[in-house]
Amino acid sequence: MKKTLSVLLAVFMILTMLGGTVVMAEETAPVEIYTPEDLLKMADDPDGSFILMADLDMTGIAWKALDFSGTLDGNGHAILNLTLTQMGDLKPNSCDGNKKLYETAYFGLFGTLVNAEVKNLKLINVRARVDIDEPCFIGGLAGYAENATITDCTVVGTLELRAFDRMFGVGGVVGYGSGKVKNCTVDVTLITTDTDAKTKDEQFLGGVYATGFMDVRNCNVTIDGYTSEHGYVHNGGIVGMYMEYPLGVGKKGYVTGNHVEGRITFFENNDDRRAYCKAFVGEALVDYYILDDNTQNFQKEEWKDFTEELRPEMCAIPEYTESVIAGNCNTYGYTQYTCEICGYSYRDHYTLFTHTVSVWTEQKAATLETEGLELGYCDGCGIEQTRAIPVIESEPETEPATTAPETEPQETVKPQNTPKKQNHLPLIIAIVIVVGCSVALVILLVQESKRKRRRKKKTGKYNR
Ligand SMILES: [Zn+2]
Ligand SMILES: [Zn+2]
Repeated sequence: MKKTLSVLLAVFMILTMLGGTVVMAEETAPVEIYTPEDLLKMADDPDGSFILMADLDMTGIAWKALDFSGTLDGNGHAILNLTLTQMGDLKPNSCDGNKKLYETAYFGLFGTLVNAEVKNLKLINVRARVDIDEPCFIGGLAGYAENATITDCTVVGTLELRAFDRMFGVGGVVGYGSGKVKNCTVDVTLITTDTDAKTKDEQFLGGVYATGFMDVRNCNVTIDGYTSEHGYVHNGGIVGMYMEYPLGVGKKGYVTGNHVEGRITFFENNDDRRAYCKAFVGEALVDYYILDDNTQNFQKEEWKDFTEELRPEMCAIPEYTESVIAGNCNTYGYTQYTCEICGYSYRDHYTLFTHTVSVWTEQKAATLETEGLELGYCDGCGIEQTRAIPVIESEPETEPATTAPETEPQETVKPQNTPKKQNHLPLIIAIVIVVGCSVALVILLVQESKRKRRRKKKTGKYNR
């Protein structure tokens, strides 16, 4: 009997574990992101797996760079108007061409992206203007990358770094690091300004990344770069400096199949001249390195006047006129700012897709207590939209509202957030298994003790 009991116990434990595994398997499904608040919550799970379920407008939200080692699937969605205001917590070393290490601050959607994957994500109008007196790198997606894989992403924005201390740079996608960037589209304005003329810094700027050891394949880069430097300049349409130490030692590097459009305007105020500025890779410090099959329409423009900081807008007091370009079913809206003095023009304040619905059908009537619901289809693209009908304010009139209520017709109708589907089935299965086994065990234990008692009665005398 003891044997039977221990077998039962073992079965019970295995089933309990199985139940747990079912629940855990369920938990590995990516966490769905619908709102800016959801995106902020990524900080709570730096190893997690996430997927965007909607475009997000980050206007008005201060962004602290995330330190991340998980997976983010943008699912083709965009993050609009992300402003990089605060560096990440982690400050891994960056390394210059002389193998010197610097504790470094990193800004980006991610501060550090280590053993992580980001795919199908659009960053539209990502912005930074960092003024700092320590080594620093900025990248639209990540300040620092280590063994990171970035595929099918888009980065559009303006990243500016005013730096003081020895080692710094800006890249459209990544600041400093290692890994892979593939099939990405980049359209960026990048600015680095050395705010201390006395020290000779190592400055880096690249359309995809500033410096490090990352493969870049099949990317389409549009760059407008500006560098004002009193040290050593490393600028490239794709990579500022491709360097194997310490992240790529013994590895083979690739910069292949990319296209670069644009221009880098720079000065290098330094007798010990480097002034690296090239269409693809500014400087390469690598043993094995394949630079092939890239095309360009790139210009470098070097200035010999070091008195004025180089910026896209050179007017001391620019005067901008604004024109708002509305979005529609599949384009984002934005505001175009044009300087009346010099003609320089840029875009900011992007807006989400907007859909127009002219026929609404009531799904649920509003009552005195609860909102009603209307359903409609976009005139342009047919996508389903819903909107709330406000609660009825006074006593209900005799005839109920039939079609469109007289409330102000909303131009922009946000799709109602469908509640996140939560599949409780595995949890229920697990509970049923555990409860069932427990009941069976209890019954068996009771039967067993009954049997023992019976046996005791029969054989009690001899046992004593
Ligand atoms: Zn539409
Ligand atoms: Zn101007």
